[in-house]
Amino acid sequence: MAGLLMQRVAILGATGSIGASALDVVARHPDTMRASVLAAGSNVAALVALCRRHRPDDAVIADESGFAALRDGLADAGLATRAHAGAAAIDALASGPGCDTVVAAIVGAAGLDSTLAAARAGKRLLLANKESLVLAGELMMAAAREGGAQIIPIDSEHNAIFQCLPRDGAGAGVRRIVLTASGGPFRGRDRATLANVTPAQAVAHPKWSMGPKISVDSATLMNKGLEVIEACHLFGLPPERVDVLVHPQSLVHSLVEFIDGSTLAQLGLPDMRTALAVGLGWPERVQSGVAGLDLLAHGRLDFEAPDTAAFPCLRLAYAALAAGGTAPAVLNAANEVAVSAFLQGRVGFLSIPVLVEETLEALPARAADTLDALREADNEARRVASAALSRHPA
Ligand code: NDP
Repeated sequence: MAGLLMQRVAILGATGSIGASALDVVARHPDTMRASVLAAGSNVAALVALCRRHRPDDAVIADESGFAALRDGLADAGLATRAHAGAAAIDALASGPGCDTVVAAIVGAAGLDSTLAAARAGKRLLLANKESLVLAGELMMAAAREGGAQIIPIDSEHNAIFQCLPRDGAGAGVRRIVLTASGGPFRGRDRATLANVTPAQAVAHPKWSMGPKISVDSATLMNKGLEVIEACHLFGLPPERVDVLVHPQSLVHSLVEFIDGSTLAQLGLPDMRTALAVGLGWPERVQSGVAGLDLLAHGRLDFEAPDTAAFPCLRLAYAALAAGGTAPAVLNAANEVAVSAFLQGRVGFLSIPVLVEETLEALPARAADTLDALREADNEARRVASAALSRHPA
C-alpha cells in the first residue's frame, strides 16, 4: 500500500464490533486513508449513522428490503453516498475499483462470497471473517494467490503470528505455532456446572469486547478450534504444528517457535484496533489509539492447557481438520446453527458441542475441491443441525 496517496477502505460488517474498531483506526488517519465503502447486514439505521460520520462513496445493506430506507436515510442526511442492497452488491463493491483495501468483518459463512471476491480482485484483504477460511480455506488462499491479494489476518492470534514471522513470509525454520486462548468466561469450570449457563453469561467475555457469535464461540472454545483451522490455511502448517495454550490475561496474543529454540511472541492490550492498524498500515506502523503495555501493572502472565473434557469443541475442530474435505465446513455450519439457537434460548450451552458432533457424524467428510461442494456441505449441515435442535431443548 506504500505509495498510495489515499488508501480507500471497504469495511464489510461496518456496524459490528470489528467494523467499529476499523472505522476508529481509519478516522485517526484522515490524510492517508478513508472509508470508501460501508456494508452491513440489516441494520439500516446504524449504517446511515456511520455514513453521516464517515461519508463513504457507497453504502450497501445485504437485506434487500432495507434498500428504500437506506436510500432515503442517506438523502435525508444530505449525503452523496450511493445506496445499494443485496449480497451481490457487496461482492461487486468489495472487488470493484472503489476500494484498495477490504476489511472482511461480516460474521459467519455469510462473509464467504465477498471475502473471496476481494481476494480474486487482488485487494489488500484484512481478514477477520474466520468462518470463510474454515469453510473454504484452500480456495480462499488460491484465490488470493491468483488474484495477487495480500491477506493480513485480523484475528489477534493470527495477526500476532503474522507479525512474528519473517517479513518475506517464509515458513522455513518454524517448528510450531502456539495460539493463545483466554479460556473465555467459564475457564476452570467443569462440564457439570455448565449445563445452565445463560447466553448473557456466555457473551460476557472477561477480556475482549466482541459480537455475540464469536463471544459464545470463545466460551465453548470453538473459537480456538476455528482459529486452529484458520492458522493451518494462513500459514501452510499441518495441524500437529499448531498448538493451543490457555493464557487468561490475554496479553500474549500468540507465539512462533523456531527450530533453533527461539520463541517469538507478540504482546499488547486486548484491543482489536492494534491488529487493524497493523493491517491498514503494513509494512509501516501507524497509530491505533491503543496504549502500550505496562507489564509491571499487569504483574504476571499465566499459561495452562486447554480443558477439552469440559470444552469438547476444540477437540471436534481438530477432528474435522484431520477428516479434511467437507468436514470443517460441516463443523462451521453446525456450530453457527447451534450458537444461534443457544443465543435465542432454544438449546442449552452443553448442546452446542453435541449438535456439532452429531452433525459431523451424520455427514462424513467428502472431497471438497469446488465451491459448490462446500456450499452443498454447508447447506446440508445447516439442515441436519436445525432438524436436531428439537431433540435438545433448553
Ligand atoms: P458483530 O456481530 O459485532 O458484527 C457482524 C457484522 O456483520 C455486522 O456489521 C452485521 O450487520 C454484519 N452482517 C451480518 N450478517 C450479514 C450478512 N448476511 N451480510 C452482510 N453483513 C452481515 O461481529 P464481530 O464484529 O464480532 O465479528 C465479525 C467477524 O470478525 C466474525 O467472523 C468474527 O469471528 C471475526 N472476529 C471478531 C473479533 C472481535 O473482536 N469482534 C476478533 C477476531 C475475529 P448488521 O449490524 O446489519 O447485522
